[in-house]
Amino acid sequence: MPDSNWEPVIGLEIHVQLKTRTKMFCRCENGFGGEPNTQTCPVCLAHPGALPVPNERAVEWTIKLGLALGCSIAERAVFHRKNYFYPDNPKGYQISQYDEPLCSDGTFVVPGEDGDATVGIVRAHLEEDAAKTIHVGGATGRIVGAAHSNVDFNRGGTPLVEIVTRPDIRSADEAKRFLQLLRQTIVELGISDAEMEKGTLRADANVSVRELGETGYRTRTELKNMNSFNHIARGIDSEIRRQISVWESGGEVVQQTLDYEVKSDTVTARRQKEEADDYRYFPEPDLVPLEPPAELIERVRGDVPELPGQRIHALAPEVGFDAAVELVTTGNERKARLLVEHGLDWPTAASHAMNQLSAVEPLAENGPALVEIIRHRESITRDALTASFAASASPGLDAEHVLAQTAIADTSELAPLVEKILAANPSQVASYRGGKEGLLGFFVGQVMRETQGKADPKLVNELIREKLSA
Ligand code: ADP
Ligand code: ZN
Ligand code: MG
Repeated sequence: MPDSNWEPVIGLEIHVQLKTRTKMFCRCENGFGGEPNTQTCPVCLAHPGALPVPNERAVEWTIKLGLALGCSIAERAVFHRKNYFYPDNPKGYQISQYDEPLCSDGTFVVPGEDGDATVGIVRAHLEEDAAKTIHVGGATGRIVGAAHSNVDFNRGGTPLVEIVTRPDIRSADEAKRFLQLLRQTIVELGISDAEMEKGTLRADANVSVRELGETGYRTRTELKNMNSFNHIARGIDSEIRRQISVWESGGEVVQQTLDYEVKSDTVTARRQKEEADDYRYFPEPDLVPLEPPAELIERVRGDVPELPGQRIHALAPEVGFDAAVELVTTGNERKARLLVEHGLDWPTAASHAMNQLSAVEPLAENGPALVEIIRHRESITRDALTASFAASASPGLDAEHVLAQTAIADTSELAPLVEKILAANPSQVASYRGGKEGLLGFFVGQVMRETQGKADPKLVNELIREKLSA
């Protein structure tokens, strides 16, 4: 913080697109990436007389998420019509939930290095998504400056859970960690891919600041248009700084919705926040209230696995807090565990899981071979090592075969080769000695080429340096 007298106050509103097979109130396919306007029907296009039927799986999955967030599940939840006019909304209203949401009053624990933060969950409710508008012809992809807009109704009517937190988050970093953990929780519950790049997870941040010791909250702004965890953290930080300088210069923060622009690190005003009354909410007359039976809730409760947040503290003593967070929230934890199970130490396992194996899903059966190879990584060629990580995703990784591809780490074998390369490139040698030390890589490359990549690059480096400084 630029000034430690100020305390940020942050609350998040998150939308999660459920990966049910069909949409929320019709049988249309719920899938990303179809040709525009191919996944539609009279219900989601709002033809007169078409009636909605709730997707039972979406209701179950929302309950599952609610339970994972420690929420109470309503005995009676009501769908409301939220009225607004926009081309992405053919009915003129969105079916959502209002004062009787399916899940409410939960908590989500965000582990921290110096103590956990408990973030209150106001509610998690079920609604349908709007269609996607694509603005064509403008520079920013937004409506400002666009020549025209296209609407893709494939997304219209797909199931969406909205999660609203209490303003309990106290830093941009904590907001980011909250979202990373929430995402991992959702993925492990198996209810959504929750990918920000694809828009199946979206988050808006409400931000205000107050002086330390103050008990009430000050006016907040709402930040939108951020599509990665890092952008969200940067947007929040930038808005915190802006608000502090507004207050410190004697001004007043105005409640508004802001777009965060990453490139310029600035916010621009969108529109005044609507009052809830503007939406003229009223109960959806075509749907009866949801009354989830207690047996259903108990069955779903039994399906909720151990949550990722609980695993961070267990891992932290082994690999350090930051690596524990990274392992758990990237889903690489499983890979590290596989390596540890077969005898590798935690730090080495964690580092390989987060680096060489981050884009690979090794088969469990390859665990022993992988560990054997990693243990002997210094004595084999770099190519063989890289290839073995990639190969661990398919059956039959053969450690013996990989380890046979030993690197040449024998000075008596490499030294003559180095001398030969230097003798063959006198002008480069002269330039190197004249100060162009970047040429070191050139010489190393030549030796690697001569040995078909089998030389130990560390030793080659040493030998070349030694000869050239002689
Ligand atoms: P509204 O009814 O206007 O949408 P809510 O009370 O539902 O407002 O809050 C919306 C979001 O804003 C929640 O995530 C909440 O935590 C957050 N929020 C509310 N007041 C503040 C504040 N003063 N500073 C930061 N965030 C806030
Ligand atoms: Zn449909
Ligand atoms: Mg609200």
